[in-house]
Amino acid sequence: MQVGFIGIGGMGRHMSRRILEAGHALTVHDLNPEAAAPLLAQGASWAGSPREVAAACRVVFSSLPTPGSVEEVVYGDDGLKAGWKPGDIYVDMSTNSPSLIRRIARDAKSLGVTVLDAPVSGGTVGAEQGTLTIMVGGDPKATRKIEGILKAMGQNIFPVGEAGCGNVAKLVNNLISLACNSISAAGFVLGVKGGLQPQVLWDIVSRSTGDNWCLEQYPETTFRGRFEPGFKITLAYKDIGLALDLGEEYAVPLPVGQAVRQDLEAAIAAGLGDKGVDAVILPLEAATGVKVRLPEKAND
Ligand code: NAD
Repeated sequence: MQVGFIGIGGMGRHMSRRILEAGHALTVHDLNPEAAAPLLAQGASWAGSPREVAAACRVVFSSLPTPGSVEEVVYGDDGLKAGWKPGDIYVDMSTNSPSLIRRIARDAKSLGVTVLDAPVSGGTVGAEQGTLTIMVGGDPKATRKIEGILKAMGQNIFPVGEAGCGNVAKLVNNLISLACNSISAAGFVLGVKGGLQPQVLWDIVSRSTGDNWCLEQYPETTFRGRFEPGFKITLAYKDIGLALDLGEEYAVPLPVGQAVRQDLEAAIAAGLGDKGVDAVILPLEAATGVKVRLPEKAND
């Protein structure tokens, strides 16, 4: 079966490569054709537009930065919708708005096309190693049909309900993990300001009730002053905005989420939008005059 993949970025380049290496024939597209070069060298085909991808493939995946980019890929002049055939399956793996996914699913159904949302967790390392957690919303029959392809990308695959529910699960996860990211940054700045060594504090917290996934990154990121993405602050800001929109839609107050958004906003205002999410600590360090780093010697 010819499989399509649109969005060959930090996540998509690994996910699509893993589909190819699992033995599927692959057609790819990205706004930036250069992004596809390594995949084409491995035998993938290039398509000049989403419409061409849809015309060539029965199953198409996408991993795109924003709801706006997904909307463009589906509804644009040369979008997927213009190339869909009855029986096709479209799987959006971006972190996206549940209501947009539901609208796309409704429009696609009238053309005989099934839409699944299958956002992922596990970062670029999980994408590279094929260990992602994948949350799938949409028709169980279509999910079973593409399960083999999903297994090339992820180890934990959770069917979660109707189309859109994949992103509800993903936004809840990111609301929680981004809150951990912000509070870990504040806690470590406070600890260092209060006279603790970062490594000592990390040894304590990572064996205590404050342990969390974000702290696991610190030895490679914050402690070394390395803030390259990974998961960009601009994407995290998009995710927290989508989670807050969802809270508003369902009348669930999310005050901690509001605080997280302010942290990310401050980082973007400081010019850190393209850095990894751990960089939320930098404005706080600048404001307080401390740095949460290991001594030079320990960096060797
Ligand atoms: P990225 O910005 O690195 O890559 C996005 C790719 O999409 C780029 O190559 C870009 O050129 C392409 N693109 C953008 N608009 C397009 C369009 N209209 N048509 C075709 N191609 C287009 O982003 P990423 O880090 O790969 O993230 C992709 C998605 O996965 C996002 O929704 C993000 O929130 C989610 N996600 C990211 C991570 C992570 O750690 N990076 C983890 C989990 C989920």
